[in-house]
Amino acid sequence: MDRVYNFAAGPAVLPLEVLLRAQRDFPAYRSAGMSVLEMSHRSKAFEEIIAEAEKLFRELLGVPDDYHVLFVHGGATMQFSMVPMNLMRRSRKADYVVTGHFAAKATEEARKFGTVAVVASSRDRNFSYVPALSPSTFTPDADYVHITSNNTIYGTRFTAFPETGDVPLAADMSSNILSEPLDVSRFGLIYAGAQKNIGPSGLCVVVLRKDLAGFAPAETPVMLDYRTYADNASLYNTPATFSIYVAKLVFEWLKEKGGVAAIEKVNREKAAILYDCIDGSSLFRGAADREFRSLMNVTFVLPNEELTAEFLSGASAAGLVNLKGHRAVGGVRASIYNAMPVKGVVALADFMRRFEAAHGKR
Ligand SMILES: *Cc1c(COP(=O)(O)O)cnc(C)c1O
Repeated sequence: MDRVYNFAAGPAVLPLEVLLRAQRDFPAYRSAGMSVLEMSHRSKAFEEIIAEAEKLFRELLGVPDDYHVLFVHGGATMQFSMVPMNLMRRSRKADYVVTGHFAAKATEEARKFGTVAVVASSRDRNFSYVPALSPSTFTPDADYVHITSNNTIYGTRFTAFPETGDVPLAADMSSNILSEPLDVSRFGLIYAGAQKNIGPSGLCVVVLRKDLAGFAPAETPVMLDYRTYADNASLYNTPATFSIYVAKLVFEWLKEKGGVAAIEKVNREKAAILYDCIDGSSLFRGAADREFRSLMNVTFVLPNEELTAEFLSGASAAGLVNLKGHRAVGGVRASIYNAMPVKGVVALADFMRRFEAAHGKR
């Protein structure tokens, strides 16, 4: 089996153990005698799968009992609509912090539903940092404040979450959920598209404080109302059954690895290997301010396009693939989610050093 090291931003690498487990059970899941793909979402076997997925997710992240955990369709982007549709419940005002591409998209979508204030942004320096936020930054009667905890394209992260008082904090955690411990009780809502740290694309995990469910206006389409998912244990219609099954396998894998605190240590180690390499280099330059560097998406640039192209093709030939940076930043982006083995990161750092030795001094 020839597997490359896949540094894609998403859909992204999955643990090999998970793929092999899914392969083993693919034609016949346990005693069910059929594939999970063929199974009714109302079957006992699938009900166990979704219940176990929720239980493991709650355990891994320490989700308190007064929060729903929902398995929702439509990826993270559908949440850009669902969040305002459901949480704009009094003043219909919301505050958005624009720290990147997805944060900007979420903001534009929310404008369709109410009064949106961009209370802080890092657009002035191409989203290379996360702006400082103090309680006075926020609109006192806003229905919620929205942030993006990790900026997948730019490689920055919130190192501390803002104090928003009684205003619920909503966070898009698509690209760093389950990568480090989290105090869920600080949030009104958390959502994460699955294809970075959870499993297959199309699925989104939503964590919603229970008192915030049920405010969507009566004309809200049924599939866009959190209450539909909350009242039906995410089984109102046929959910993304196979994606939820793979997510369950990923959660089991993460638990076997020691859980979120243990994986955070590994994530810090992996990120340090690459950032040390960048900081010790005269060829590579980090794209994000040091203080806000992401543990999941490491972005850096080379002096010109020719060297960048040569770097990417050389890396690819060495089995290190999908390293091309997003066009908004250029250069290189190494996405090193939970499932990226330390070995893959070491191989990339070795390749970077060899590349610099060959091209550095010109
Ligand atoms: C990938 C990503 C999205 C978009 O996810 P989809 O599932 O494609 O809708 C949104 N926000 C962040 C932070 C992301 O990394």
